[in-house]
Amino acid sequence: MGIIIKSPNEINIMRQAGRIVATILAALKSEVRSGISTGMLDAIATRMFQEYGARASFNGYRGFPASICTSVNEEVVHGRPGGRVLQEGDLIAIDVGAIYNGFQGDAAITVGVGQISPEAESLIDTTRRSLEAGIAAAREGARLSDISAAIQLCAESNGFSPVRQYVGHGIGRQMHEKPEIPNFGPPGKGPILKRGMTLALEPMINAGGWATKVLPDRWTVVTADGSLSAHFEHTIAITNGAAEILTV
Ligand code: MG
Repeated sequence: MGIIIKSPNEINIMRQAGRIVATILAALKSEVRSGISTGMLDAIATRMFQEYGARASFNGYRGFPASICTSVNEEVVHGRPGGRVLQEGDLIAIDVGAIYNGFQGDAAITVGVGQISPEAESLIDTTRRSLEAGIAAAREGARLSDISAAIQLCAESNGFSPVRQYVGHGIGRQMHEKPEIPNFGPPGKGPILKRGMTLALEPMINAGGWATKVLPDRWTVVTADGSLSAHFEHTIAITNGAAEILTV
């Protein structure tokens, strides 16, 4: 099965799912401070999912035990919320996925805790701008890997490394649909982007090398060299003009 094209009505439901994701992320961002645990952030998210009549996409996904993913400092993605208490200078990536009326929204942000290092500041800023560059490349008629190349160029021109083992993805009724969207690679390859495609773009950018490994908990992905990592993600729809961000 190829890339699934969504109808305007389906995209409208995805807008609603996306708005729930964005609302939860904004609330969590405002709670990030020294002294709060990742488990407390997860509890806030769990309550909000219930309030909005949505389900957390990640909860139970391949046995994942929480509503959101929280990945701190050298953790790249898939961190499990728990007793870890955030401290001044930490970076936390928060990934939220919602299922609403049968459709998915998926987005992530990275936030500094209090005062962070200039390198950490630059990494967060670059990762956010890499996502923006990817979204700008996601136009009807472009090729899929134009997105990948735009993300890679932004990350590497600032001295950072896009992760290669984990990728963005199509999204719709399923959290992970075709195609896979790497955060690196030459432009001009892969399928032509068509109106009605819905994609989750998610640069994961390391301050050091691109290599990662999975911790013995079998979930948490960390940088192989222990360097910091940041992650931003939006769910978008391809339109006849600029891509529409659904997770706002
Ligand atoms: Mg995703």
